[in-house]
Amino acid sequence: MKPLLIGGEWVTTSHGLPNVNPSDVSDIVDVHAQAGRSEAEAAIAAATAAAPAWGRTDPQTRSDILHRAGEEVLRRADELGRLLAREEGKVLRDAIAEVARAGRILRYFAGEPLRTGGQFLPSVRPGVNIEITREPVGVVGIITPWNFPMAIPAWKIAPALAWGNTVVFKPAELAPGCAWALADILQRAGLPAGVLNLLTGPGSVVGQTMLDDARVDAISFTGSQATGARVMAASAPLQRKVQLEMGGKNPLVVLDDADLDRAVAAAVDGAYFSTGQRCTASSRLIVTERIHDRFVSAVAERLAGLRTGHALEDGTDIGPVVDEAQLRIDEAAIARARAQGGSLRVGGDRVTQATEGFFLSPALITETTSDMAINREEVFGPVASVIRVRDYDEALATANETDFGLCAGICTESLKYASDFKRNARAGMVMVNLPTAGVDYHVPFGGTRASSFGPREQGAFAAEFYSSVKTAYTAS
Ligand code: NAD
Repeated sequence: MKPLLIGGEWVTTSHGLPNVNPSDVSDIVDVHAQAGRSEAEAAIAAATAAAPAWGRTDPQTRSDILHRAGEEVLRRADELGRLLAREEGKVLRDAIAEVARAGRILRYFAGEPLRTGGQFLPSVRPGVNIEITREPVGVVGIITPWNFPMAIPAWKIAPALAWGNTVVFKPAELAPGCAWALADILQRAGLPAGVLNLLTGPGSVVGQTMLDDARVDAISFTGSQATGARVMAASAPLQRKVQLEMGGKNPLVVLDDADLDRAVAAAVDGAYFSTGQRCTASSRLIVTERIHDRFVSAVAERLAGLRTGHALEDGTDIGPVVDEAQLRIDEAAIARARAQGGSLRVGGDRVTQATEGFFLSPALITETTSDMAINREEVFGPVASVIRVRDYDEALATANETDFGLCAGICTESLKYASDFKRNARAGMVMVNLPTAGVDYHVPFGGTRASSFGPREQGAFAAEFYSSVKTAYTAS
């Protein structure tokens, strides 16, 4: 059984939870110790005790540890990619790419302790100088989802450690293997006891204990809107810093003048790769009239040629849905869209394979309107809907007609429309002639409205959440 990490010790519990391969439910990847309230409290105590010394650690030490961890993750990308594909169902090449990205994120943040400077300004009062510096926030709670089980923990833990915080890390129940491997690598890279604590276990117990504990100074959360709202509600009475990354209903606008092949490639990649289980997935395809039929036919043809199957098998394009519950959610969303007038053009069938897994062929639903549930609520599966619109103005208005605001894309050859869309799409990220999913790790990531709350993640902007600004005045 894979243990918890508390105060520098690997700790087992009486209860373990199997980590099941969604491509083959007979394959148990591992069993993970399940923390309860007392283990969560012990981890928070350990992180609290370790915080002052770690906050004072010299930048070289923090940099070296993150660099060593990044190098190991990169060196083991194939092996860890296999683990990721097994536990989450991402096809092997994408799983390896995610691990490599995590390694690069660690190496990127290894530079931050050395790069982080302050400012020195004259005061408006004669004879006074001002220094502006950054200091750690303290104990950071990190709560992550299952869909990027290596990259998301890396892009939260690395900046937390880089800016001198200690961490209590609670990964998703469905994909604890990568989280465990990452914690093991970081611990062996030289972290002092208590700086990083790993709690595998149920969100309702372990996560909730973190939310309720005033010793946790900040929480960075990625997951569903419902859980995000809990994080926020529990943090409000404590005046705690929170960062929430939640769902999306991301539009990809395709205009009449788009390069058809490019638009189809962007739609298929953005909507269906990684089984559509990406917060940035292009789940709404908003298409103008003159290109609509050609675009829909080409996407349907491309989907019919994709292979849904075991994540580790050569030639698989679309891996399994993460579990039976998510598969039922996907099927129910398709059925509801049809009941409301949508037409299932292709896909949406359970696919039988040699192994028992949660396979669903990629579904394209046409003839939908913006008010339907399929265009309002996140599905989080290989399901996309098409909305036909007259022109660019209607496309933009439709793209913005959602509570979410994570990423918005447009396919067009027109500089005028591309520029207008970049300005007026209500989203934290905009893509032109690219899939909505697939972002770089050195620039800000995040959205607006129901998709995100708090400072941006990733790149230099991560400093806003993971450090606190101090202004010091000195009379000379
Ligand atoms: P989820 O909200 O069910 O779980 C996320 C995490 O919260 C898990 O670790 C879970 O154990 C924990 N949790 C559950 N109840 C809790 C509680 N009461 N207190 C504290 N923690 C609790 O989400 P999920 O199903 O794992 O992930 C899918 C969701 O994540 C989708 O909505 C997707 O859009 C979103 N997501 C967003 C981004 C982004 O950056 N915007 C990235 C990836 C995924």
